[in-house]
Amino acid sequence: MTMPDANYVSANGRTTNLLNLSCAFAGAVLAGFLLTATLACAEQPRFTDELQGKVVSVADGDTVTVLVNKEQVRVRLDGIDAPESNQSFGARAKQALSGLVFGKTVTIKKTGTDRFGRTLGVIMVGDLDANAKMIEDGWAWHYKQYNQENRLAQLEDAARQAKRGFWADPAPLAPWEFRARQRTPGPVPETSDGSPLAYWLNVSSGVRHNSTCEHFGQTKRGRSCGPDEGRPCGKCGG
Ligand SMILES: [Zn+2]
Repeated sequence: MTMPDANYVSANGRTTNLLNLSCAFAGAVLAGFLLTATLACAEQPRFTDELQGKVVSVADGDTVTVLVNKEQVRVRLDGIDAPESNQSFGARAKQALSGLVFGKTVTIKKTGTDRFGRTLGVIMVGDLDANAKMIEDGWAWHYKQYNQENRLAQLEDAARQAKRGFWADPAPLAPWEFRARQRTPGPVPETSDGSPLAYWLNVSSGVRHNSTCEHFGQTKRGRSCGPDEGRPCGKCGG
């Protein structure tokens, strides 16, 4: 998505209170099961509406436009976050979502609307949950900040272990981190004499990045380095 994180307003938060009420009632009846019931309910996505239409464009790996009754509806896939268009794997993620939904008649299980009027929802192609499929294939992250579904967390773990999609990269950059970096560029590492070191070494993977790379100065365990340290990054050439 291209909007800042703050603009992503999931309906999940809104519906949680209602949900907890019904859970609390269940708990009053079956006190022993209160915790279980609350947890189970908290994991269920709430669908406020259901729309059908044809996907007429795919903006990126988590945003599409669907023609619903001759009206174009912009849909942000709920619970996932795909690499940005100008980020590594952004084009691949868009391709992946296109392959799943483009030109197809889909059902949008609506979960809410963000403040810009984008519909948040789960896109179903027949029985296929496209949101979950994007995570399963390693082309989207589970957007844990806004979604707590265990099912999606497990799909992400499996994709990571199998190195599917962008998980083939030893340290793929989460889109929300990428966006944060776009807003506030990280400090350029410097040598002791004050001149900037041109390369960044990921200490965990031993991969070296040059200053044009999105991983430059960004990996959790890393430091500045010279051109002969580590092995070159496959994307930026190190
Ligand atoms: Zn690199």
